[in-house]
Amino acid sequence: MLAGKAALITGSTSGIGLAMARALAGAGANVALHGFGSPETIQGLQDELQNNHGVQTTYSDADLRKPPLIRDMVKQVHDKFGRIDILVNNAGIQFVSPVQDFPEDKWDDIIAVCLNSAFHTTKAALPYMLDQGWGRIVNTGSMHALVASPFKSAYNAAKHGIAGFTKTVALEMAQKNITCNAICPGYVLTDLVRNQLEDTARIRGMTVEQVVEKVLLADQPTKQFVKPEDLAAMVLHLCGPHSASITGACLSVDGGWTCR
Ligand code: NAD
Repeated sequence: MLAGKAALITGSTSGIGLAMARALAGAGANVALHGFGSPETIQGLQDELQNNHGVQTTYSDADLRKPPLIRDMVKQVHDKFGRIDILVNNAGIQFVSPVQDFPEDKWDDIIAVCLNSAFHTTKAALPYMLDQGWGRIVNTGSMHALVASPFKSAYNAAKHGIAGFTKTVALEMAQKNITCNAICPGYVLTDLVRNQLEDTARIRGMTVEQVVEKVLLADQPTKQFVKPEDLAAMVLHLCGPHSASITGACLSVDGGWTCR
């Protein structure tokens, strides 16, 4: 379905982004992996995608808090593949704290990684997509792009910002064969969630098991974590042959979190 196309997926060395990269490679796209990880892990992922799917891969470890590195990354991906058709802005970080204690540097990092980086990648990739006459931009939002939870002020602000940015890019590109959508997952059991379990437990005076049951999944009506593969399938649909009229949407894949 995507043979000959090139995809850049930020934050694809683990979790949701890795599932998306695997799905895009499985559909035949050449894939640029991005994010942090040991050289052995990254090489293993590149070998896996190349051997399993016969696609080309490349990799960037650009720190998304640094806009010049983001611009270099997009150019390097275009230099490698000669095109960029699909951009998935997926990287994200989290920090939980009451707002009056929220460390300024954590606020700045979350806004930079979860919001500002999507602006910088999109600005750098759009000229290529416009030249090609086709493009698909998918932003990983969150249920926290649509509703808030306490102690996540920076994350909620960044993800609500992603929803607004997604709609704006969709409108500006509406007649250019370039769509821009946000996928808004509920809780997915990835490193990002595992890392916040202990902090949340401490702040709320709970055990980790209680946080899973009474906080994370309390408002997720299915009482199941969302699977990364289900989010990856949504990306495939948004890049597939029946996607032209889906743009500017914030698509909830959240086990019913935001329906009440
Ligand atoms: P993860 O921790 O498994 O992956 C995060 C990725 O981002 C990794 O590849 C990491 O290396 C990369 N990254 C982090 N900081 C970076 C930086 N400064 N520069 C470059 N790369 C950086 O997390 P995940 O759960 O797979 O999250 C992926 C996206 O899904 C995020 O945007 C997150 O907000 C969103 N999301 C996650 C959940 C969930 O429950 N896990 C729910 C809703 C939305």
